Amino acid sequence: MKIETGAQVLEVLRMSEEAFIRDVIPEARRTFDEQLGGRLRVTSMMGISNICKNSCLYCGMRAGSTGLTRYRISPEDVIAAGNAAADAGFGRIFLISGEDPGYGFDRLLRITAALKERGMFVSLACGEWDAGQYRELRAAGADEYVIKFEMSRPESFNRLNPSTDFDRRMRSVRAVKDSGMLLASGNIVDWPGQTMDELADDIMLMKSLGISWAPVIPYLPARGTPLAAEGGLGSRLLMLREIAILRLMIPGVHITAQQPGADLTKGLSDPEGNAAAVNAGADVLFRDLLPDPQARSFRVIDFRNLTDGGHISRVAEMTGRAVDMAGD
Ligand code: SF4
Repeated sequence: MKIETGAQVLEVLRMSEEAFIRDVIPEARRTFDEQLGGRLRVTSMMGISNICKNSCLYCGMRAGSTGLTRYRISPEDVIAAGNAAADAGFGRIFLISGEDPGYGFDRLLRITAALKERGMFVSLACGEWDAGQYRELRAAGADEYVIKFEMSRPESFNRLNPSTDFDRRMRSVRAVKDSGMLLASGNIVDWPGQTMDELADDIMLMKSLGISWAPVIPYLPARGTPLAAEGGLGSRLLMLREIAILRLMIPGVHITAQQPGADLTKGLSDPEGNAAAVNAGADVLFRDLLPDPQARSFRVIDFRNLTDGGHISRVAEMTGRAVDMAGD
């Protein structure tokens, strides 16, 4: 099955659930097996700071958001956690933070260099920097950088992300590419007010950007945020449709499998939701390195939930897939 055009994307987004499960899911699963050997890509991860200067309308960690304790993990503690993960067999680490200028760019470089020296594949998601800084991160050893475009239409992006703007975000996206790091980028699926045409545009933009990883999840409301007042939870089915389309359109791309299940309170490591995503073609699962209580305070969404990694073996068992922890 080939999906190459916006019209073909829309066709899959709009087809009956029965036809999607019958005709598209098996093709996506076959492509996952052919392209990625059907292996689950397991990555250690850590939220190194939950402080953010921005005010994205959907985010529980936005500046001024209350009900969470703000923290920064020191470079020494991040490096120690990364080394412990490497000792436990993890070849990859994903470090994520709010846009926290106070954390210190030099400290980010130091962490990156130390974890690279340890032999890890280093992915970062620490916000917008200028082109020279992305090049410095690359020189320090960063392999991949996550900068989500979130919404492909400028008017939507600018309304929901008032601390920056679409042109600036896309300049960052291009600067990451130019730096030599792999670019991971993607959207939010089914946020309140998103149209099907807009969702199809998002998917086409992911294709045109040549991404290494689609770090995508459905819209999950965070209490007290402006967007939560506009509407509820995004559709899980629509999320699975996007995953299957991405697998078929960009066969070798990595796609986040850490997706919610029917019971949202189980968070993003609910094996039921994760297994459904894997069966639609997704492959990326995370082992959270954050200690409690910081894990509870890394609260972009309400029910992210901390995990001891138990979901990984459970999802492998449920889907009959092997686990790949090696760096690359
Ligand atoms: S989505 Fe990211 S940049 Fe936006 S407010 Fe939340 S942590 Fe900050």
